[in-house]
This record gives sequence, C-alpha cells and structure tokens, in this order.
Amino acid sequence: LAASSSSQTRQVKLDKECELRVEVGETPLRFRLLNGTAEIFGTELPPEIWLTFPPRLKFATPMVSYVNVHAVLDGRRSRAKASSADAPGSSQGPRVIVVGPTDSGKSTLSKMLLSWAAKQGWKPTFVDLDIGQGSITIPGCIAATPVEMPIDSVEGLPLEMALVYYFGHTTPSVNAELYKVLVKELAQTLERQFSGNAEARAAGMVINTMGWIEGVGYEEKLCSMLKDVLKNKPNVDVVKLQKSGGVVSRNAKVRQKSRNYRIREYFYGLTNDLSPHSHIASFNDLFVYRIGGGPQAPRSALPIGAEPSADPTRLVLVTINRDLLHSVLAVSFAKEPDQIISRKKITYLAPSAGDLPSKFLIVGSLTWLET
Ligand code: ADP
Repeated sequence: LAASSSSQTRQVKLDKECELRVEVGETPLRFRLLNGTAEIFGTELPPEIWLTFPPRLKFATPMVSYVNVHAVLDGRRSRAKASSADAPGSSQGPRVIVVGPTDSGKSTLSKMLLSWAAKQGWKPTFVDLDIGQGSITIPGCIAATPVEMPIDSVEGLPLEMALVYYFGHTTPSVNAELYKVLVKELAQTLERQFSGNAEARAAGMVINTMGWIEGVGYEEKLCSMLKDVLKNKPNVDVVKLQKSGGVVSRNAKVRQKSRNYRIREYFYGLTNDLSPHSHIASFNDLFVYRIGGGPQAPRSALPIGAEPSADPTRLVLVTINRDLLHSVLAVSFAKEPDQIISRKKITYLAPSAGDLPSKFLIVGSLTWLET
C-alpha cells in the first residue's frame, strides 16, 4: 500500500489478516494498492489506482473476527434461496440488528456485513435507524436501501433507491412515539417489498441502530438483557462481538461536527461537486409543519398508568418567523393545500435550481449553519 498526504508518500506492507488503521487529517489523503489484495470495511481496493480520501475520514482494512459472522449469514442466505418461495418463513434470509453503545463500531460492522454479502452477489437491504449519525442520508432521518455493490469506501451509499423518513431530531427523546411510528412505517413498507421480491427476502437485512443505551457498564447488561428478552423466540440468536480496537470515540462536539459535515455533503457533495441553489419564496407559498407539536413529557414523568396525551403524529402548522432560521426542512409528499398565511418572503437552500417538489414542509429541531 502507498499513502500520500501533501508531499509525503509512505509505503506499508500489510501481513495476512492484518489491519491498517487510518485517520485522515485536515488535508485529503491519497492511497493506492500496489500488490496483493486488501479491503476497506468489506470493500476491495482496486489495484494500482490512486484513491483520494477526504479530510477527517477514518478507515481500516478488515477485521477477521467479523468475517465469521458473515460466513454464518451467507449460509443462511443460501438456505433461504434454496427453499420454496411459498414458504414465507424458510425463504426469509437473515435479519441482523446491530446494537451497542455509540462509538462501538456498529455502522462500520453493518457496512462490512453488507459489502461482503454484495460481493457474493446478494442484494441485502441496509436499514439505518441511527438518527444521530446515519450512513444513508442526513442526520435526523431513518432510512433503508438495497445494497447491490460493495459500499464505496469514499462515496458511501448511493441514494437513488433509498426509502427515507424524516424524524427531524438527532435524539429520539424529543418525540419517542413518533420515532416508533416511523420505524413501524418503514418496517411495513419493507415487509411489503420483500413479499414480492424473493431475491431481496433471501438476502435479508442488516439493521443499524442508534446506540441509545445508557452508561458504559450497560454494555455487559445489554447482551444478557437481550438474551433474556428473546429467549423464547425461535430463530433468534444473540451474538456478542468484540468492539474493534480501531473504533474512534467521538465526543458530543465531534459528533455535532460530523453531523454538520453530513448535511453539508448532502447539499455540496463530498468534493464540492454539487451546487445547491438559494431561492426566495413567499411565506404564503410554503406551509411548514411540526409533527407532534413540540416536546412531550416522557412516560416516566407521568403517573403510573397514564398515557402521554399529545398525539405524537399530530401536525401543527408553524408560523414562519426567525425561529426557523437555519432549520433543515423535509419536503412532504402531500399535495393538498390546507391554510394560507400572511405574505412574506423566505430564503432557502435547495439541492437544485428547480421548484420544490411540494410546498408542504416538515420541520424538526435539526439545524445547520453553513460555515
Ligand atoms: P457507531 O456506529 O457504533 O457509532 P462507527 O462504526 O461509526 O461507530 O465507528 C466510529 C468511528 O470509528 C468511525 O469514524 C469509523 O470510521 C471509525 N472506525 C471504526 N472501526 C475502525 C477501525 N477498525 N479502524 C479505524 N477506524 C475505525
């Protein structure tokens, strides 16, 4: 392997089943495979070609212990494929859910399992429920996409086929009921797609979660708790995997920064190859809604047996004012106008120069200030 950053070039000889860990600094890093084979998180490096990695990216060549999990999953996919399509149970491939604290390497493991499966010709579905640091699209969303090729180490996942729901917040506590509603909605849509697609069903899913488990000591507890909760479920295995020593811990500030980069990347592309447009629209041409109408009392704060009263999916029309400055809005699929508000102007950044696909927008608490 040859790596070059600014003016320095370095050559590294990697032994069999060994891992090279790289943290890109503030300048891009160029990287080239000179001899043999190597992977980055499950995706093989092309020989002899210089790859350019953007600043701040962290990556490594593979982790042997995770390959064994892949081998087991691969066997289950083959069994699902071989079984008759009208046996809904046995024609279902493995559905893997990766759980653990933040910064335990969940997304990385998910991507490796997906890339290895795709390399063998499967088209597994990646479901990302991490609203803090999603891998499919911007933060604040849950999303799913089929993975048809090993995931590009630089570009990440393609978005063309993604199914995305905007939650609008980077932590579920803001409206946990809405989060559950969206997850159910996503699950039902995927279930429908799988029922008509034997190939996707056999390939199964890898589901990444958001690490919303409290305390460090919880790590041990999580595994035994899951084993306990799932002990009577047939066909469910709880497997404990070691965290890779290479996983980089990020504090709240670093995570916030990486969220901002993700949003910037959405609008401008990884290498500034996209050009979003600034638009001016009249206040009365757009309708901004909040879902659930603000924070709710958590169930734990209510008397035993009491239900939170606000409907978590209630739409509340938001008055457009300075409070919306720097908000990240999602465009709704809704077509029907509802109400008209006073004549004022709003400036917004959109991925393209054309009109917005709809004038109904959803706001959460997610903001982004272009720097
Ligand atoms: P989680 O999803 O549990 O929050 P991630 O998979 O996002 O954790 O890992 C956190 C960070 O560590 C990411 O920037 C990832 O690229 C990096 N990382 C994970 N595994 C390795 C490794 N073996 N070597 C180098 N960096 C790694």
